[in-house]
Amino acid sequence: MIARALPQWGLYYTIRVTTSNHPLPDLNDPVQSLPGVGPRVAERLARLGITRIADLLLHLPLRYQDRTQVTPIAALNVGLEAVIEGEILLVDVVRKRRAMLLCRMGDQSGILTLRFFHFSSAQREHLTPGTRLRCFGEIRTGAAALEMIHPEYQIISEHEPPLFADCLTPVYPTTEGLRQPGLRRLVAQALHCLQRQPLVDPLPEALRQTLGLPELNATLRLLHRPPPECAVQLTRRQHPTQRRLIFEELLAHQLSLRELRQRIRRNPALALNTEGTLRQHFLAALPFELTSAQQRVLTEITTDLCQPRPMLRLIQGDVGSGKTVVATLAALQALESQGQAVLMAPTELLAEQHYRTLSHWLEPLGIKLLWLSGRTKGSARTAALEALRSGQAQMIVGTHALFQNDVEFHDLVLVIVDEQHRFGVHQRLALREKGRRGAYCPHQLIMTATPIPRTLAMSVYADLDTSIIDELPPGRTPVITVVISESRRDQVIERIRLACRSGRQAYWVCPLVEESTQLEAQAAEDTAARLSELLPELRIGLVHGRLKAAEKEAVMAAFKTAELALLVATTVIEVGVDVPNASLMIIENAERLGLAQLHQLRGRVGRGQETSHCVLLYRPPLSQVAYSRLEAIRATTDGFAIARRDLELRGPGEVLGTRQTGLMQFRIADPVRDGELIEPIRQTADTLLADYPQAAEAIVARWIGQGQTYGQV
Ligand code: ADP
Ligand code: MG
Repeated sequence: MIARALPQWGLYYTIRVTTSNHPLPDLNDPVQSLPGVGPRVAERLARLGITRIADLLLHLPLRYQDRTQVTPIAALNVGLEAVIEGEILLVDVVRKRRAMLLCRMGDQSGILTLRFFHFSSAQREHLTPGTRLRCFGEIRTGAAALEMIHPEYQIISEHEPPLFADCLTPVYPTTEGLRQPGLRRLVAQALHCLQRQPLVDPLPEALRQTLGLPELNATLRLLHRPPPECAVQLTRRQHPTQRRLIFEELLAHQLSLRELRQRIRRNPALALNTEGTLRQHFLAALPFELTSAQQRVLTEITTDLCQPRPMLRLIQGDVGSGKTVVATLAALQALESQGQAVLMAPTELLAEQHYRTLSHWLEPLGIKLLWLSGRTKGSARTAALEALRSGQAQMIVGTHALFQNDVEFHDLVLVIVDEQHRFGVHQRLALREKGRRGAYCPHQLIMTATPIPRTLAMSVYADLDTSIIDELPPGRTPVITVVISESRRDQVIERIRLACRSGRQAYWVCPLVEESTQLEAQAAEDTAARLSELLPELRIGLVHGRLKAAEKEAVMAAFKTAELALLVATTVIEVGVDVPNASLMIIENAERLGLAQLHQLRGRVGRGQETSHCVLLYRPPLSQVAYSRLEAIRATTDGFAIARRDLELRGPGEVLGTRQTGLMQFRIADPVRDGELIEPIRQTADTLLADYPQAAEAIVARWIGQGQTYGQV
């Protein structure tokens, strides 16, 4: 605790770093070259992604503290951090469960309490009435007066009053065992090296001037040691230096995705020029017409597939917009060219659904379709792999089990991936590698039901061309959504009784309450048992993630043929399940689910002629945020509007599932907030790739790292 009380903070930035006896290390040297950095500190720095001295400079502050001036106690604001100065009026050790040291401190304007839960005898000796102190800490409300808990402090001596920091104090992202003062000292050393050895700005000067962006070295110096008057702009992330780095970071991602795209597009692909006979047969048997949006997207795909270069296309379309039909038509073009196609889905249940749908559509056309998941074992697996390798099977549907090394294709020409945001870019690329027929690269079609705003799509899908199915098939009735407290469960059960009595079907979803599929399955089993007691006249089915594939399939089939009236399920039914006669959906603990997930689940109803209803059951009390989330779902069925709201509430990392995959993490940029930069960034990327390829490479290396560009699998 004493370490905290050392009078170092107020002086820190005014002390120049002394490296007198050492030759100044190079910015590209490992951090160990800095005095005071041994293997332990180096290991901790590495956790923050800092291995070279230059990395310290790109380790940007999260926020700043203003330690440049004293605030009178009467002018303090609760919740903010401030420097105060005054005299100790009273000291007391209070013994509750354990001893606590309290100091009453005053200046001309008011009084304040310093509270220490841990303290040393030395502290008790020097914190005495009459002593003058300067403190820094967060202001809190206390019982008697405002308080600071464990402030940093220093004793003011009459002869030598302490200096103030001459710039804002940065607060860095840190990790266990690394404290702010230590990090600040290291960054100061790196800044010292920078003075002698400026970094080469990867943004060419001409470009910087056109865009009005400040130079790199000045930018880094300012961000690590900003003058106090920049505080407001910096907090809002509106300072020109921040705008410059945000620009550069988004540019780095744009460049790396573009580079990936170019690398794939340099490979030749098989041009799938066909008569379209298979398609005609398929369309003739289909009980509906394509919507004009489906038609338009299909034309875009067909055009791509006829090129001798790999297609890289994303279909965005709301839940139920009919992406699967379009993907199937793409597959038929591949199959008619004597090639193989693969359809990959993120969950077993969704893959099974696709398999069933596609079997139903394709088997009448004489197409041999296979199924592969992690659970396909033994001779079934061997047989499947052999059929695939020999070319006897034309198409395969499965989960990420398709990535495994022993899965080989005879002639893969088209890869279709559903719900792309759940897979990483790397996984998608791994599948591409499966497609080499000689030097050919397969075409790729990616489908997502997470509609995101255009500017964000241009950031995160910069490697893909985008098609949007912005129209739902006719005859859909909008789902009416209500938000109801769990205390009115009885009424909800009556609703199920009524709906099922008139021949319709219902879902009851019990989402993940604990982080365990076992507990989740248990909750669903309990719910099913209780509902069976309350609704004895109904046939009730149960499906969850821990059932065997065959069991799951049997339950789903029974629900599909209306043998079962009510299906109790976990969120495994989120995607792909398609039973038009189901017109009622109950979602328990709805307040715990994300908006996109609720929207997906709700998309299971509203697929038939009858008006459908969705009941969002919540457990009170509902927080304001939880309420506004459920309200957003209740108020609209427009997936784009919901996605926008979701992005506002959770941020892009969560929404796109990039947290888990570790891709597209941003240090300073936020592709939603900074969406207006995307147009200039795209233009800049074009210019750099054409005229300054080395600068482009340097920017990607700096922000994304050399070893982990997207292209590497
Ligand atoms: P999603 O885009 O959510 O994957 P699906 O492809 O699963 O949507 O389609 C949802 C349902 O709508 C399926 O039952 C499908 O057969 C049906 N469907 C698709 N296109 C049309 C259409 N043009 N007219 C009528 N029904 C359609
Ligand atoms: Mg789908």
